[in-house]
Amino acid sequence: MKITEVRVIVTCPGRNYVLVKIVTDEPGLYGVGDATLNGRELAVASALQEHIAPLLIGRDPDRIEDTWQYLFRGAYWRGGPVLMTALAGVDLALWDIKGKRAGLPLYSLLGGKTREGALAYTHVGGRDFAEVEDGVRAAMARGFRVVRVQVAVPGNRGTYGVAAGSAKGDFPREGLPPEEVWEPSPYLRTIPRLLAHLRETVGEELELLHDVHERLNPVQAARLAKELEPYHLFFLEDPLRPEHKESFRLVRAASATPLAMGELFHTRWDCLPLIQEQLIDFIRCDIGHLGGVTEARKVAALAETFQVQTAWHGPGDIAPPTHAANVHLDVSLPNFGVQEMVFFPEAVHEVIPGAPEYRDGALWPSESPGLGCDINEEAAAKYPYRRAYLPTTRRADGSVHDW
Ligand SMILES: [Mg+2]
Repeated sequence: MKITEVRVIVTCPGRNYVLVKIVTDEPGLYGVGDATLNGRELAVASALQEHIAPLLIGRDPDRIEDTWQYLFRGAYWRGGPVLMTALAGVDLALWDIKGKRAGLPLYSLLGGKTREGALAYTHVGGRDFAEVEDGVRAAMARGFRVVRVQVAVPGNRGTYGVAAGSAKGDFPREGLPPEEVWEPSPYLRTIPRLLAHLRETVGEELELLHDVHERLNPVQAARLAKELEPYHLFFLEDPLRPEHKESFRLVRAASATPLAMGELFHTRWDCLPLIQEQLIDFIRCDIGHLGGVTEARKVAALAETFQVQTAWHGPGDIAPPTHAANVHLDVSLPNFGVQEMVFFPEAVHEVIPGAPEYRDGALWPSESPGLGCDINEEAAAKYPYRRAYLPTTRRADGSVHDW
């Protein structure tokens, strides 16, 4: 069998997605993947179209590992968000083809189920504690047992902590990136109070987590982890920038708050120091920016060896094929922890049917062969690409800060 065509489909059913369709010489047999990199979509689409697709034509789609090694190591220039996202798009499509040929869902190819569904968490944000509390109660009513909580911080300005729906209304989705203002001191005062409020009002049973978005320095992160200890977080997410793995030692030594990290990592070597030293409890790479299922399996195996659980990144800026891959991995991995999720708008389901189903606090994998996703190219063409960016962040004095 041979690959005959690689189609790269860029579409914007609410937000931009880059989709990959790999067609084979077997009639009707193709695979779909997701190669979306928020704010840099066309860089990935161009890498795929101009540089990677010509290398795939004529290759045997069954040889996933060899193709992965060929694209990662064979090209000399390796790694980074653009190339690893492109590689993930190819990798997912090849796994989809393998599943379709076998007539089996991806989780079965990965060793079969170790659990039925994947424990899922949703995002709740609000302008104040009462609004967050209302959102948490609504999530609980929907069956969620794990909820991520963020709140707007007095004196800071922007999308951080504000419910996604209202945040998007505050900023243009086209043109230049919107800018936020963010200061650590009011943030560090606010978050422990939010968690205290929620434990008092919604109780101890619900699992709560909070995302720092890599905005703190080591001693600030250590302080926050320590002050949040009484509220028993499920985990504190991405407390530090991805560059300094050794800084996690300070945070670890300061508290028993569980730590999660990894959505800005692109290879297993980024993850290794944190896993090997047991400096984190959850590895939360983005499969769509890590080279796909092939690399994620290896990261998961490393993590299992050191008692670290998985919590793959699952935001709305990656497309349903990556969410589907997340859940196929989740239900097959022995060391799965939790799965981040979003509810996609109807237009996304129309263009990319097959996102994992949410029910009873969990996500459920498709039983269809392969990933279980498809691309409706006619529908995709109705939603052309529109340039859009993630916000950027500045300190109050105007200097650039980490988003
Ligand atoms: Mg995050």
